[in-house]
Amino acid sequence: MCKIFIFRISIFFAIVFVSQGLFAQEYQKVEAESGEGIYSLLRRFNLDPKDYYNTFLEINKNRLNPDLQLLKGKTYFLPIVVDTTALETERQIGVFPIFGKKYEKVEFKDDKLQGAVFYIISGHGGPDPGAMGKKNGHTLCEDEYAYDVCLRLARNLIEHSATVYIITQDPDDGIRDEEYLKCDKDEMCLGNKKIPLNAVERLKQKVETVNQLFEKHLGQYQRKLEIHVDSRYSNQKVDIYFYYHPGSNKGKQLGETLLKTIHDKYKQHQPNRGYKGTVTERKLYTLKNTKPVSTYIELGNINHPRDLERLIIVDNRQAIANWLTLGLIKDFENSKRR
Ligand SMILES: [Zn+2]
Repeated sequence: MCKIFIFRISIFFAIVFVSQGLFAQEYQKVEAESGEGIYSLLRRFNLDPKDYYNTFLEINKNRLNPDLQLLKGKTYFLPIVVDTTALETERQIGVFPIFGKKYEKVEFKDDKLQGAVFYIISGHGGPDPGAMGKKNGHTLCEDEYAYDVCLRLARNLIEHSATVYIITQDPDDGIRDEEYLKCDKDEMCLGNKKIPLNAVERLKQKVETVNQLFEKHLGQYQRKLEIHVDSRYSNQKVDIYFYYHPGSNKGKQLGETLLKTIHDKYKQHQPNRGYKGTVTERKLYTLKNTKPVSTYIELGNINHPRDLERLIIVDNRQAIANWLTLGLIKDFENSKRR
């Protein structure tokens, strides 16, 4: 069977094989602009030449001159697939196995986050489950719940055409519509790197992974989000914490925009609930050492019955991801105005 590549944005796991016939496929066509080469053409569509150059050559082999120069006004194929089965509107769909069978197909709905780059880190993972709780005989691990929210968030961001790097990855746990998420230890760091046992090494690995990618996107809006569920203030009735690195104005603005978005949403959906969250500075290794503007998010504490209740309900995890997405769109828009 003939197989082709579906490409969209520069995410390692975006590169997948799909059998032809799954849906009618056609590469998106684009006209080269004056003076444009293959690299600049790919970059214009947020496609990293490192990942897409060879495919570009392959699918355009009948259109390219031997010198590989692009001709102004000539049409070339982009390594982006257009789904032509949807008749009313042309839809682009990417396939991302990391989200699991049920959620792997992601439709690019709009360009609201085109050009934005996000690094999503779910806390802990690999040999470190993070905080642990118990409910109805189930053991609950912080890293699994943080990861599920992270995947939901990442998928949302991709729908708006963001470039997303999921730093902690689990090869066999996609988005799980389950209350009790099984604890496992097979999470990896992006790039198939084993997560080290040593706590300092673990943090370093995340920081280095993010910082290397940061260099590739210099000049773009880049934000890092790290999500945890082990709030140290669980005895107080506070819902979500945002931390930023002391002195980082943009980190503070990011936290405040996210908090305000969630606050407004709660007011709309549960007006009597009285949502409480905070944005404060805190000295943390990953906040200090990663190059993108960062926020560290505490969704609650997995040991606390009230927080747990909120997290095991699938719709709640999705709602948190949705509201964070809205906040990030807002922060991206704000960044263009500043
Ligand atoms: Zn944690």
